[in-house]
Amino acid sequence: MEKTPHIAILPSPGMGHLIPMAEFAKRLVQHHHIIATIIIPTSGPPTKAQQTVLESLPPNIHHMFLSPVTELPENVRPEIIISRVMQGSLSSLRDALSCLKSKTNLVALVFDMFGHDSMEVAKEFSLYSFLFFPMSAMALSFTFILQKLDEETSGEYKDLPHPVQVPGSVSFHGYELMAPVQVRTDEVYKGYLLLSKRLSLLDGILVNSFEELEGETFRVLRGKIAGQTPVYPIGPLIQSDPKNGSDTGSDRHECLKWLDDQPSGSVVLVSFGSGGTLSLEQIHELAHGLEMSNHRFLWIVRSPNKASNASFFTGASQNDPLGFLPEGFLARTVKRGFIVPSWAPQIKILSHEAIGGFLTHCGWNSTLESIVHGVPMIAWPLYAEQYMNARMMTEALDLALRLKTDENGLYRKEEIEKVVKELMEGNEGKKISKRLKELKSAAMKALSDGGSSMESLSKIALQLKKGPSL
Ligand code: UDP
Repeated sequence: MEKTPHIAILPSPGMGHLIPMAEFAKRLVQHHHIIATIIIPTSGPPTKAQQTVLESLPPNIHHMFLSPVTELPENVRPEIIISRVMQGSLSSLRDALSCLKSKTNLVALVFDMFGHDSMEVAKEFSLYSFLFFPMSAMALSFTFILQKLDEETSGEYKDLPHPVQVPGSVSFHGYELMAPVQVRTDEVYKGYLLLSKRLSLLDGILVNSFEELEGETFRVLRGKIAGQTPVYPIGPLIQSDPKNGSDTGSDRHECLKWLDDQPSGSVVLVSFGSGGTLSLEQIHELAHGLEMSNHRFLWIVRSPNKASNASFFTGASQNDPLGFLPEGFLARTVKRGFIVPSWAPQIKILSHEAIGGFLTHCGWNSTLESIVHGVPMIAWPLYAEQYMNARMMTEALDLALRLKTDENGLYRKEEIEKVVKELMEGNEGKKISKRLKELKSAAMKALSDGGSSMESLSKIALQLKKGPSL
């Protein structure tokens, strides 16, 4: 039997977890002579996006798809579907691990926060259980204290009269806490609470962040919050070779060609992640605000939707997909604005030297991508744990400016104009920009030889090579 340590990696459905977990696998196998198999739970045939990522992996990272989980509920939150797929995949996971264990030196199972029920399966096969945490150390610190918060609180957290202090970070109003804890009676909350209780049973937690970004939070986590559970900063892991837009030749994305003609640091990227959507009224305020700022912008725009996380096209006809924008907006901004409907190669855009600012929904991947490329941000949170990220980035880390809503919860055009100008021309913008430049090189160092995240990776590899003594 092959002696090389082998790890199984179980990302929950969706690209947001598969990409950083695949990047983690790449670094581990590249630097530490370890083999990995990515085991993918499914609810249907593999998507093109999944295939692109998996096909680009080096030969010592294998992958397999578990049998699809069908009979899923309709019209429910994405988190419920993800949890059901993960639960429905446990028995095929058992078969997959049994097969790997019989042929290889399988030592560990790495899962994300939707996959913690597989800890039981890992135990059956005497494997280490590692949690891959694709959010910030702050969000992890909150997850550690959730159990206590649950015991001490009756009713919903959004009604809490006082803010919740997250150890090693800032405090948050109850309504800002991450989406999985917002409805305490539902199965997503119960699952997340169970994760909080299980943290102390893990063999390690791999956090997609880095010491130089969240040093204080990591210190507090290690000091007392995490107890005996090792916490490893392993980030910032972003997609290293994104295939969503070729860099050269005729298939180079139009928006990159447009950026080539713009002055250095002059363009604000506006993007709300893979699923963010705005109401029609909010889209109009944003369009007018960008126009009034007089700055150049590249806007990845989606059709209006009242739900903030609906990524599909509605309300726009096929022939005129941008018909929902204010009348005359496209013509008036044609010289300094570029609109991409629905999707664009975000990492390539952020790495372009014409980009000088990023209006972002504060998804953790987008945040890390901005940090890696040294781009100052404006925080416009929409859902998930983005309100927490936004407060952390503005209050604790000085990496972003924050927009203020009006009494109806809307960001008005005057506010958008003001904050875009402040980011691109003002003193606050300059301060943030300087800090981002420093963090950009710190991020690069963290993942270079001898860097903080590379050191974590070596410790994990050492643990894997020692093997579990269960
Ligand atoms: N993304 C992209 N093009 C788009 C929108 C998003 O490439 O038009 C990528 C972005 O670079 C990031 C991911 O999708 O890697 C979004 O992840 P994030 O955690 O920021 O937000 P989520 O989509 O999970 O809300």
